[in-house]
Amino acid sequence: MSFNDKIAEKVKEIPRSGIRDFFELVLGRDDVISLGVGEPDFSSPWHIREAAIYSLEKGETSYTSNLGMEKLRKAISLAVQKQFTVTYDYRSEVLVTVGVSEALDLACRALLNPGDEVIYHEPCYVSYDPSISLAYGCPISVPARPENNFEIRAEDIEKKISPKSKILILNFPTNPTGAVMKQKELQDIADLCIAKDLIVITDEIYSELVYEEDYKHVSISSLPEMKSRSILLHGFSKAYAMTGFRLGYSCAPAEITEAMMKIHQYSMLCAPITSQVAAIEALENGSKSVEKMRREYKSRRDYMVGEFNDMGLPCHMPGGAFYAFPDIRGTGLSSKNFATNLLDTESVAAVPGDAFGVSGEGFLRCCYATDINLIKSAMKGFKRFVDSIK
Ligand code: PLP
Repeated sequence: MSFNDKIAEKVKEIPRSGIRDFFELVLGRDDVISLGVGEPDFSSPWHIREAAIYSLEKGETSYTSNLGMEKLRKAISLAVQKQFTVTYDYRSEVLVTVGVSEALDLACRALLNPGDEVIYHEPCYVSYDPSISLAYGCPISVPARPENNFEIRAEDIEKKISPKSKILILNFPTNPTGAVMKQKELQDIADLCIAKDLIVITDEIYSELVYEEDYKHVSISSLPEMKSRSILLHGFSKAYAMTGFRLGYSCAPAEITEAMMKIHQYSMLCAPITSQVAAIEALENGSKSVEKMRREYKSRRDYMVGEFNDMGLPCHMPGGAFYAFPDIRGTGLSSKNFATNLLDTESVAAVPGDAFGVSGEGFLRCCYATDINLIKSAMKGFKRFVDSIK
């Protein structure tokens, strides 16, 4: 029996993730070194796992408040105040979610009417476009340019604004380019959002992972007059190496939080209690672990980016996240051909840049949250491959 006529049209329209397509080629091959998966190679720090285990031992296996445990929301409010200098009321402006993924979906569904336009910079995280479409919004992409190190500029966003524009999604540091924004350019974007009455969803999932000593990450929500039009999304997956705990949160004005909570209470009820307890431990005692991993990523980044440039694949120095985004246009191969041939000949997997949108064509995403010895072997494979096609 075919279910093709039973599947919702919206779902049929959505393409499969390019990452998934590529990684089906890798499945079942244990000889492959993968720089493909965007998650830390570290397990969650032991004290965080221990807090989760102890919570289970105590028999804490119930639902929590729909918004999330009060103790966690207080800890989030404090942490956000400290990291981003924006104050959110834990009673009405903080919602604990199943990862940033759920928070993004809730924000889109809470705000979008059919046909509303959502602008985002591209190349970008693979979920933005489908999350907008599934909420009946129209995704409008703005290419981030390699010559600007993949930062985005207010004037490029402005060109895409129409009477239907409602939301701008920002993600700095960016997956897949590692781009970070300087405050001056971010302020220009904030001014544009105020002038054009846009709401900003700011995905801060990589915000702890910035590497230059003289760089301080700023969230657009902390700029003057921006808190009231921002939805700050953050989570524990990347900086705390807690992907499998599936925990995130949103901080937003009370009316928006209430609208998101309405959907969350019926679709998810609450985030898992064990993960919430682990997240409290992460926020209260995890900063040293984060710093240790950050330093390790920085030295891997420096090594990987240096290798790419030495072998003739120009690679900008990514200011944050844990991805290098080398430029392979000089080889004459498309991203897909390069990645497929590299996999076939050297058993090294990297994600073709066009999996993150058309403006990623000509680049590859290589995750350096990977063991340094594996990165070293992968770089040797890259070099042999590049030399072979010269
Ligand atoms: N946002 C970005 C930019 C990401 O790269 C990812 C995961 O790769 C997510 C959100 C998903 O985060 P979570 O694990 O909290 O759902």
